[in-house]
Amino acid sequence: SAEKQTHGFQAEVSRLLHLMIHSLYSNREIFLRELISNASDACDKLRFKALDEPSLLESGNDPAISLRIDKEAGTLTIADNGIGMNEEDVIENLGTIARSGTEKFLASLSGDQKKDAQLIGQFGVGFYSAFIVADRVTVESRKAGTDVSAGVRWESDGQGEFTVEAIERAEQGTAVVLHLRKDAREFLDDFKIRQVVNQYSDHVAFPITLVTPAEGDDEEKAETLNSATALWQRPRQEISDEEYQNFYKHISHDFQDALSWSHNKVEGKLEYTSLLYIPARAPFDLYHREANRGLKLYVQRVFIMDDAQQFLPQYLRFIKGVIDAPNLPLNVSRELLQDYGPVQKIRAALTKRVLQMLKKLGNDEEKYATFWSQFGQVIKEGIGEDRDNQEAVAALLRFASSNQPGKVATSLDQYLENKPAEQDKIYYLLADSPSAAENSPHLEVFRKKGIEVLLLSDPVDEWMVSYLDSYKDVKLINAARGELDLGEETDKADNDNPLIGRLGSILAERVEAVRATSRLVDSPACLVLAEDQLGPQMRRMLEAAGQ
Ligand code: ADP
Ligand code: MG
Repeated sequence: SAEKQTHGFQAEVSRLLHLMIHSLYSNREIFLRELISNASDACDKLRFKALDEPSLLESGNDPAISLRIDKEAGTLTIADNGIGMNEEDVIENLGTIARSGTEKFLASLSGDQKKDAQLIGQFGVGFYSAFIVADRVTVESRKAGTDVSAGVRWESDGQGEFTVEAIERAEQGTAVVLHLRKDAREFLDDFKIRQVVNQYSDHVAFPITLVTPAEGDDEEKAETLNSATALWQRPRQEISDEEYQNFYKHISHDFQDALSWSHNKVEGKLEYTSLLYIPARAPFDLYHREANRGLKLYVQRVFIMDDAQQFLPQYLRFIKGVIDAPNLPLNVSRELLQDYGPVQKIRAALTKRVLQMLKKLGNDEEKYATFWSQFGQVIKEGIGEDRDNQEAVAALLRFASSNQPGKVATSLDQYLENKPAEQDKIYYLLADSPSAAENSPHLEVFRKKGIEVLLLSDPVDEWMVSYLDSYKDVKLINAARGELDLGEETDKADNDNPLIGRLGSILAERVEAVRATSRLVDSPACLVLAEDQLGPQMRRMLEAAGQ
């Protein structure tokens, strides 16, 4: 039927649209990156589906993307011959936001345009960014493998509603027509389009052609704008930093540059190419259980899946990147990946690779501080999760220290380097906050003796140190626990003192023992945990879990 239906956007979409139009204005050319990225994804998906159904690739039409400028109509069209969408698909994909945590994310936006622009970038603006430059968007599409009559037209002005109607469409795939706002007419200029495509989308693995219509005596021109080879297949020395960064933005939807990356080709029986990035900022859903994570998986340059989680452990879930493993079966599924031998081996190698990359990043103090502030908590999970690589993970940790108050920058290696040769332990103190740690009476004797103590006040710290007995064969010791062995004059018992005996009987119900100590310098008394007792953080965690 030719009937046109009107639908309302999901409330979150309306809010996002409004925020985006207002806060991304100065970054507005990213709409082109997003729409080309979707076209490229659609071509990837078609090629994947065609592995089983070769007839889906319309004969003679290799997957491709075209940009068409119509100055008279004031439109810019981004078209692809990829997987396409049917009516159900457009309503679902272009009317809602499927990501969990969206509502919370939107609530966290401040109204400050500059800050929000950063946050929205990390959320991934996607298709809706079209409305930054267009006051009307028309999408025409037909799903690969369906009949010419199964086309669909979606249209909206971005104001809360969209319409959907059935159309006939000769080609499969999707065309997104942007009716440009008056102040966005610069995107009708082919120079501008060339520049933006070069900047953001040069690495796209399908040809992007720019079509400029006939004008005066000139005929219609079609010009290919990119090299259309998969970036990770090119030799490292031929790829500029800028190209690497743009590719990062393509796969991550991040606005910001990555902190670092590692691009490697491994030959032999277990052949694969990996390109892994460390983002500069944690995504809003780093701690959501259902969040997308993992690498983009390709087999022989054919896209297989997003979010292949099996190639890295949980605690490295913030790493973005691509893995191309030509010897995996093309029909590999998530279930198969789970316990497929070669995948386990690649995972072990990639884990080591990432840990090395992070170690190297540690040489750049400023970058590492950024990294640690964003991802330090997650790295700590690795101490318990990845026993095979525990020492390499532990080398990445940074702590506040009694020697450097106010800074979270001391590594275990630095601690070992700083300590006197005869000190054979690493001391740490657990507390609820950095200031509680710094002011703890437990530190007094260490200060007096000039012994450095690492100050741990993250909620995960107690859990973490319960897995970390030692580092490079030096034991880690809780400075608040049991009897300390700080040299011969310490803790020499003065326990015959009558005051001690009296305190012991008064407090008998509440403490295990009262002891004289030389660990205090200014404070008269402190509470000490017995060797085998749970610490206060752990106790609270268990209580909160109802144990
Ligand atoms: P994302 O690309 O991160 O999924 P987008 O907002 O960019 O988010 O796109 C939303 C969804 O709309 C896509 O996941 C896809 O299913 C669909 N879509 C968008 N553009 C196209 C296209 N050119 N061809 C096919 N599907 C598309
Ligand atoms: Mg997208």
